[in-house]
Amino acid sequence: MAVNAPVHGICRDCLSRASPGERRCKACGSPRVLRHEELGALSIAHIDCDAFYAAVEKRDDPSLRDKPVIIGGGKRGVVSTCCYIARINGVRSAMPMFKALEACPEAVVIKPDMEKYVRVGRQVREMMLALTPLVEPLSIDEAFLDLSGTERLHGAEPAFVLARFARQVEDEIGITVSVGLSYCKFLAKVASDFNKPRGFSVIGRDEALSFLAQQPVTIIWGVGKAFSATLANDGIRTIDQLQRLERADLMRRYGTMGDRLHRLSRGMDTRTVEPRGEAKSVSSETTFDKDIAAFEELVPVLRALSERVSARLKKAEIAGRTVVLKLKTADFRIRTRNRQLGDPTRLADRIFHTGLDMLKRETDGTRFRLLGIGVSDLTDVAKADPPDLVDRLSHKRALAEGAIDSLREKYGREAVETGYTFGRAKKARPQREDD
Ligand SMILES: [Mg+2]
Repeated sequence: MAVNAPVHGICRDCLSRASPGERRCKACGSPRVLRHEELGALSIAHIDCDAFYAAVEKRDDPSLRDKPVIIGGGKRGVVSTCCYIARINGVRSAMPMFKALEACPEAVVIKPDMEKYVRVGRQVREMMLALTPLVEPLSIDEAFLDLSGTERLHGAEPAFVLARFARQVEDEIGITVSVGLSYCKFLAKVASDFNKPRGFSVIGRDEALSFLAQQPVTIIWGVGKAFSATLANDGIRTIDQLQRLERADLMRRYGTMGDRLHRLSRGMDTRTVEPRGEAKSVSSETTFDKDIAAFEELVPVLRALSERVSARLKKAEIAGRTVVLKLKTADFRIRTRNRQLGDPTRLADRIFHTGLDMLKRETDGTRFRLLGIGVSDLTDVAKADPPDLVDRLSHKRALAEGAIDSLREKYGREAVETGYTFGRAKKARPQREDD
């Protein structure tokens, strides 16, 4: 990463230009001088806020500054975010709260205030949009930015603009970010994760292959717990092993995922930064190998699709007010059915049960070749699923769902199957999307 070659640098604290050879910034004495041979040539960035929820809470209550802080729900809940002090004590996100408190009994536990986090996340995004219109948010606190061609506008190269941005976020919002800068999305994202918090890592074209060779396969997008276990079973643990395999070989073994492994292991990633306006809907659908007419056979598919939609809503911190069911008959006729909810949702359970109701009316012996479920009328998550409006049973289900999501995040989808998909997951699981 940042190499010590004699190249000009940028002081990340005072934003002075540093001459070749100076280890510290001459102007302010800071050791945080950014140097890289390709610094002037890279323009794809990934910006990620550090321990976002915890950082916002610390900002708003300075007495928390030097204390371990955990954001999460209740004693039975799980850790949603924890600050770096809590991490040093062994706390991790998605950890059950009782375990986290075992590891770090002195931690201050704070209930998440989503409305506030959404507001702060928007502020950060507004500041990103002042740099370039090409901002692709990945979640409430991270986004890709493409700064190509903005040098004249800003009077500075992307690396400088990003260093200034990081400082500006600290000064004006009071939280910190980590920046990854590279020539493609994959490596920008890998880089931003490299020396958190307050990191700024650069991965250039020249070093991409050798850098990747030393990394575990798990840094590749889409290689989760389950797939990395498959790879480990085949004796593949590091990227240099992938680099030595032929594309055809990888494709034969792992299908389209093999192609992705081939490309990303070599730092080949041509995906562009896609600025996302407000999405109109979030949905997931699957085409069956064989047409299905039986309601009971469609139910687990609907459940799996609902969970996928819900996971995407949660990741994007949005919710939808209208549930949309889509069916395609064996003779290619499309049926869509909508139902509006009293308040927006992002919960798989509510999406599923609303969809189930509509599905019941459609299963009249017709054979279907496709089933899809989604939500539209998107809004931000602050208004979604108010506990006082949801009956007690479904509130419990909502809490359970939060726990299931955290486990899945940690152990992969297979770790938790609900009653509807249990044992039938192989058959019912929707096709993998390219997300
Ligand atoms: Mg983050």
